Amino acid sequence: MPVKTIYEPFRIKSVEPIRGTTRAERESMLREAHYNLFLLKADDVLIDLLTDSGTGAMSTHQWAGIMEGDESYAGSRSFQNFKSSIQDIFGFKHVMPTHQGRAAERILFQTMCKAGDIVPNNTHFDTTRANVEFTGAEALDLQIPEGKIPDNRYPFKGNMDVAALEALIQKVGKEKIPLAMLTVTNNSGGGQPVSMENTRAVSTICRKHGIPFYIDACRFAENAYFIKLREAGYADKTPKEIAQEMFSLADGCTMSAKKDGMANIGGFLCTNDDRLAQRESDLLILTEGYPTYGGLAGRDLEAVAIGVQEALDIDYLKYRISSTAYLGNKISEHGVPIVQPPGGHAIYIDAKAFLPHVPVEQFPGVALAAELYLEGGIRAVEIGSLMFAAAAKMELVRLAIPRRVYTQSHIDYVVEVILDVWERREQIKGLKLTYEAPFLRHFTAKLEPV
Ligand SMILES: *Cc1c(COP(=O)(O)O)cnc(C)c1O
Repeated sequence: MPVKTIYEPFRIKSVEPIRGTTRAERESMLREAHYNLFLLKADDVLIDLLTDSGTGAMSTHQWAGIMEGDESYAGSRSFQNFKSSIQDIFGFKHVMPTHQGRAAERILFQTMCKAGDIVPNNTHFDTTRANVEFTGAEALDLQIPEGKIPDNRYPFKGNMDVAALEALIQKVGKEKIPLAMLTVTNNSGGGQPVSMENTRAVSTICRKHGIPFYIDACRFAENAYFIKLREAGYADKTPKEIAQEMFSLADGCTMSAKKDGMANIGGFLCTNDDRLAQRESDLLILTEGYPTYGGLAGRDLEAVAIGVQEALDIDYLKYRISSTAYLGNKISEHGVPIVQPPGGHAIYIDAKAFLPHVPVEQFPGVALAAELYLEGGIRAVEIGSLMFAAAAKMELVRLAIPRRVYTQSHIDYVVEVILDVWERREQIKGLKLTYEAPFLRHFTAKLEPV
């Protein structure tokens, strides 16, 4: 019989202590942080699930790469390693390093977009949306309807609505659409994957109309693994072969190496278009750095070159996706409402359904996140009315899992804490704002119990 226990496909060579605290200590620290978990000291958190961005653990191989980093200003060996590793997977002609994903986005959109344009995507991530809008263009989300229903278990909820894309092109004309994008996996839509069939359909429509097609590739490896598990015809392909096929359908990509680059910093922009690459490279020099380092140290380039390959390792992906699903399935079996099915990098709890007695004006997501901290020192993040105000579509609490950082017993601990909070959910009270900044208020907001 195959063994069912999920095991970490690595052993631990270096450890970083994390600190347990008493409930009384957490009560006072939470009060001092005005019930906003962004205002806590990270040292006062036991299990930090605030984000999976840049919080992963590097491998011995990556640390060795860091020591080998070539810090030459121009033409470094580390850039050659970076470029050839990325081209091996992504296949694009031009590769430009950037300090993180949003820098790649800024350069791409400032080169391609102007006021009045429309950029369709399955769902724009917030930095992508902001960078599109900064050029005066409109960032349009065309996710399939199944993706917007939390308990719908469609296997590729990240897909784009291709009929809506075709209708948009007919309506506004291809001249108004400088590029179309697909975000894999769909971060804002719950970490849900996009199928190869959907990627091919979007690519075909774009090619038919001569519209450049770019992929926001942040979680490309997780997406490739979901295709292997769920899409007919891919069970026997490696995640790398699947990723190569996916990128062969596109004209370029943006990437945050803080996600499936398995690095703590970094990103890149790729394109097959020579003229565009020239203009992008000019912009890169202006704000990021010389094109062979793009705002990164040579050692960072090495970490990313190795990281993108490690992210495609089948044993790692199996552990990664099973461990996230384990957390989601365990709490869901006990009735905790989550976005289904579990995504790749995070579990999203539906706080409105968890705390039906807390009205939206009293921030059920913030109240639940505060309670998870009080109960067990866990830090999650609200994605709801505090973050988006009136634009919030759902009240979610996201538990994002850093890569290769926490073990299965940490995950069991998180399950236990969530279930304890679930047991006494009726006692949890809402919160009210005592301070809010004029924009991006969730980072600095202050609250108190009602
Ligand atoms: C994180 C992320 C970005 C932005 O990357 P940064 O490295 O944080 O600038 C863009 N798109 C998606 C889907 C992301 O998850």
